[in-house]
Amino acid sequence: MQVVKHINELQLILNKMRMQGLTIGFVPTMGALHIGHLSLVEKAGQETGFVVVSIFVNPTQFNDQSDLSRYPRNLQKDVELLAPGHCQLVFAPEPEEIYPEPDTRQFNFGSLEQVMEGKFRPGHFNGVAQVVSRLFDIVQPDKAYFGMKDFQQLAIINEMVRRLEIPVEIVSCPIIRESDGLAMSSRNMLLNPDQRKAAVHISTTLFEAANKTNGLNVEDLCQWVVKRINENEFLNTEYFEIVNSETLLPVKNWNESGEKVGCVAVHCGKIRLIDNMKFEVRSA
Ligand code: AMP
Repeated sequence: MQVVKHINELQLILNKMRMQGLTIGFVPTMGALHIGHLSLVEKAGQETGFVVVSIFVNPTQFNDQSDLSRYPRNLQKDVELLAPGHCQLVFAPEPEEIYPEPDTRQFNFGSLEQVMEGKFRPGHFNGVAQVVSRLFDIVQPDKAYFGMKDFQQLAIINEMVRRLEIPVEIVSCPIIRESDGLAMSSRNMLLNPDQRKAAVHISTTLFEAANKTNGLNVEDLCQWVVKRINENEFLNTEYFEIVNSETLLPVKNWNESGEKVGCVAVHCGKIRLIDNMKFEVRSA
C-alpha cells in the first residue's frame, strides 16, 4: 500500500492501473478511521480492482471552526489500520493541493439541503459537494463508496452526480455500530467515559422508536424520541425527524408511501453525533 500526498503522483499510479484494465474503487474519508470506514474499503475491494482511500479533513464543510480544530487526526494510525486490508493507495493531501485557489462554487440541492443537517449546519453540504466533486475529478473512480451513517450526505452526493453527470457509480454501505449499538464515528473518540456511556442512549431510543410505529402517530413519536433522549443529562437533541428516504421531506402519516427513515442529531457535551434508522410500518 502506497501513501501519496500529491495529485500528480496519484494520477501516475492510477493511469498505470487503468492500463492494466483494473477498475478504480474510491473511499473518501476524513481519517480517524474505524471499522465503519474499513467496511467501505472491504466492499470496494470486493467490487473493484484497485482501491484508493482519501484522508482529508475538508475545511470547507465545517460551519463550526472549533469542530474543525477539534476533529481527530492521526495519519500514521490510519495507515496502519488500512495496510492489512483491501486499500492499495492512500491519498492524503494538504488543503493547498485540493484548493490551490479558494473554491467559490455554489451548489443548489433544493429541498434536499433545506432540512436536518442542511438546516442546522449552513454551508455544510456545499463544502461536501466541493470536496467530493474535486476528489472525483482527481481520482476519476468507477465506483465510490459512502456510508448510510451520513444519510443526507448520501442523498446529496447522488443528486450531485446526477446533476453534474459524473460517470461514477455511488455505492451505499450500511451503518456499522459498536457492540452496544452506538453508530461508529470518528467523533466518538472525543467523548469522555460518562459521555460515551450516555451516547448509547441515542441508538437505543431509535431502536425502541422503530418498534412503536403501531402505537403512536408520527408527531407523537417524534416528541417521544426527543423527550426520551433528553432525559439523559449528557444529551441534548438538535433534531429528530422521520423523513421519506428519497425526498428527505418529513413524513406526516405512517400510511404515506415510500421508505421512512428516522434521523437524529444530538449534542453530547461539545460533541455532535448523528444517527439514523429505517422505520418499518407494519399494518395492524
Ligand atoms: P467521514 O470520515 O466521517 O467523513 O466518513 C467517511 C465515510 O465513512 C462516509 O461515507 C461515512 O458515511 C462513512 N462512515 C462513517 N461512519 C460509518 C459507520 N459507522 N458505518 C458505515 N459507514 C460509516
